[in-house]
Amino acid sequence: MLKDKNEQRTSISKLGEFGLIKHLTKYFAINNESTIKGVGDDAAVLGFNDKKTLVTTDLLIEGVHFDLSYMPLKHLGYKAVMVNLSDVYAMNGNATQITVSIAISNRFSLEAIEELYAGIQLACNTYNIDLIGGDTTSSRTGMMISITAIGEIEQNKIVYRNGAKPNDLLVVTGDLGAAYLGLQVLEREKQVFEANPNAQPDLEMYTYLVERQLKPEARKDIVELLEKLTVKPTAMIDISDGLSSEILHITSQSEVGCNLYEDKIPLDPQMISTCEEFNVDATTVALSGGEDYELLFTISQSDFDKIKGNPNLTVIGHITDKSEGVNLITRGNQKVEIIAQGWNPLQE
Ligand code: ADP
Ligand code: MG
Repeated sequence: MLKDKNEQRTSISKLGEFGLIKHLTKYFAINNESTIKGVGDDAAVLGFNDKKTLVTTDLLIEGVHFDLSYMPLKHLGYKAVMVNLSDVYAMNGNATQITVSIAISNRFSLEAIEELYAGIQLACNTYNIDLIGGDTTSSRTGMMISITAIGEIEQNKIVYRNGAKPNDLLVVTGDLGAAYLGLQVLEREKQVFEANPNAQPDLEMYTYLVERQLKPEARKDIVELLEKLTVKPTAMIDISDGLSSEILHITSQSEVGCNLYEDKIPLDPQMISTCEEFNVDATTVALSGGEDYELLFTISQSDFDKIKGNPNLTVIGHITDKSEGVNLITRGNQKVEIIAQGWNPLQE
């Protein structure tokens, strides 16, 4: 958060655009057979043989999607990749390549952009992704990052949002709501710091929450786990905007209803205690928080035995006929209709 006064600051204009691209990309290796030509020509060349190709893209804008006063650039680079990989895994696919386009102002030094790329590279190495291109341009003020992820999948493995059937089980990975609370903790610390720059943030009580916000992991492991368990979900989506909004995507596209059980929603103990501290309802945070990057999917009842007892997977409800609606069954056994409260960028 605090800038070291002695930190080296090399102006990007010294390198020029081409020098910068070369500098940033020279340590990225190529790991996937499908990458025939990566960075360096007018276009990358990919070859997926008999597989289908998945393509997904996300745009992140400073001040809207990230705040550099508490988001270290390395984490930003890592997270920007995760957001995209998560969409490929949500199709049950294998992510293989990314392109990275950035717009930067002269406020950013070479060292700062190197940090961003260190995060991108860590993500690429960890998830076996090739960086195959991008674009570099200038911006008057803030930073923008647009990443496109490409993946591969066999036709018969593709999982869409629209395949859920009545009586299917609704399953979620990991736990929910922590990333949103991590953001609340960081926002609060920022305000404390702005009021008193000598205040030292004490985030020890919130390490899990802050990590979920600053260093999310896309659930590649779940795609591999489901393959190993020979479970093919009937529908799947990643949780970027909050559980309620993602359930509504699955139910509306599949033309089904759903009962979600409040007492089944997986919550981390740190998340629960911090909800008490912030005086917010944990279920509401899990339903509407967003940025968890977990996977939400439906499976046929006949697959239940294969996933039963797995600590990564929690059955939180079941699919019903459309006429029954989309409901939360509360701890008090009341039926409450679920409405989306997730983050809507156009309603800001
Ligand atoms: P063009 O003028 O044809 O758009 P560029 O000079 O922008 O080409 O890019 C040259 C090469 O560097 C291309 O392979 C491009 O995909 C890649 N590239 C450009 N910017 C980035 C970046 N920020 N990160 C990774 N690769 C990049
Ligand atoms: Mg270009």
